[in-house]
Amino acid sequence: EERDGDQPEFLQAVREVFETIQPVFKDHPEYEASGVLERLVEPERLVKFRVAWVDDAGKVQVNRGYRVQFNSAIGPYKGGLRFHPTVNEGVIKFLGFEQIFKNSLTGLPMGGGKGGSDFDPKGKSDAEVMRFCQSFMTELYRHIGQFTDVPAGDINVGAREVGYLFGQYKRLANQFTGVLTGKGLEFGGSLARTEATGYGLCYYTQEALRVLRNDSFAGKTVVVSGSGNVAIFAIEKAQQLGAKVVTCSDSNGYVYDPSGIDLDVVKDIKLGHRGRIAEYAERVDGAEYHEGCRGVWTVPCDIALPCATQNEIDVEGARALVKNGCTVVCEGANMPSTPEAIEVYQKNGVLYGPAKAANAGGVAVSGLEMSQNSYRLSWSFEETDERLKGIMDNIVAESLAAAKQYGDEGNLMEGANIAGFLKVANAMVAEGII
Ligand code: NDP
Repeated sequence: EERDGDQPEFLQAVREVFETIQPVFKDHPEYEASGVLERLVEPERLVKFRVAWVDDAGKVQVNRGYRVQFNSAIGPYKGGLRFHPTVNEGVIKFLGFEQIFKNSLTGLPMGGGKGGSDFDPKGKSDAEVMRFCQSFMTELYRHIGQFTDVPAGDINVGAREVGYLFGQYKRLANQFTGVLTGKGLEFGGSLARTEATGYGLCYYTQEALRVLRNDSFAGKTVVVSGSGNVAIFAIEKAQQLGAKVVTCSDSNGYVYDPSGIDLDVVKDIKLGHRGRIAEYAERVDGAEYHEGCRGVWTVPCDIALPCATQNEIDVEGARALVKNGCTVVCEGANMPSTPEAIEVYQKNGVLYGPAKAANAGGVAVSGLEMSQNSYRLSWSFEETDERLKGIMDNIVAESLAAAKQYGDEGNLMEGANIAGFLKVANAMVAEGII
């Protein structure tokens, strides 16, 4: 805390993990002897760099770029890139720290990393985004590689940005390798990667509901926040599984559609022309638009799937959800619930699926993309989706087994932290004090 007092999100993420993993230390004195916790909170490497580019008006713009290579005990660093004005060192470190355990939970050999920039792509032309991505990669390329560090997308980094980043990497390195995931299908991308985080979130929720409550999505009312990559495919899968999704949002406000969100309209607005969600209410009869994205948690529902950003559900949001009958919160976004919100869930018996488990489907299919690149082949959508579902079911099972052994039986948060931690800690001990 002394060293990183100016990084509240990072401290929040570390505290949550450390509070829940204490019980394993009794069985594993070697963790303390080998300084696992002290080493775990210090990134192996963090690079911070200037990204200079020229806008359409010919003016020089300067942004900050980051890549944190947090932990490589179980595989090459792996984690997305986020382009958003709120990006700073603390945000990148919280995301990188969470990524260590998430990647471990997938069962695939991937270490933890994350990166990004305070660049805001909103309102920028395609050509500006391309020049920014090229400048960003001109520095980043020397720090990454298919066996070293494999970035992917995150907020505001989708297929377009990954394409520009990949093109510049290939040019500089003079190598065509799987150095990024989330690539276009024409140049090494995996089928089902676009859908993976949202679909995976629903597979996870479905499996947790089945095992813990003998229940399912069928007939449930679902509130979703966000309208980006994760939100869109969470809505799609929840609908396929028989739920009625009544909301989605962006940073300006949310829409409530009592007859169920028409996903084709959302896709047309967000994927078709990068528009604002307010447009939905202008196009769909009976739908309401409300200014302010946090109001979304006051909409009555059975299941809430936050899919926008960190700390989007505070204590009031959590109380409103519970009061209006919500009994399930599974996280598509990273750390969307504040610690006080999580307390509200735990006290009220809400089935709580934490981000590092519930949204691991994205990085899981990224891991599968790396495998396909290494084999130089591609699997069908069905095959990849099937593997994704298997991985999400397994995360639920492993989390519940770890919670039963070390924590509160049925507590998916404790279970995810413990199960993710054990594998990394064992590898860190085995690899010596480095
Ligand atoms: P997108 O950029 O596709 O969408 C982000 C959505 O969240 C948009 O609707 C955006 O609204 C909204 N949003 C972003 N920042 C804020 C903010 N500060 N306040 C309110 N709303 C905001 O990103 P993704 O869907 O990829 O990511 C969403 C979340 O899921 C993030 O937490 C990300 O880390 C996490 N995640 C993503 C994975 C992936 O595979 N993409 C994997 C695992 C986790 P607006 O357009 O107005 O900015």
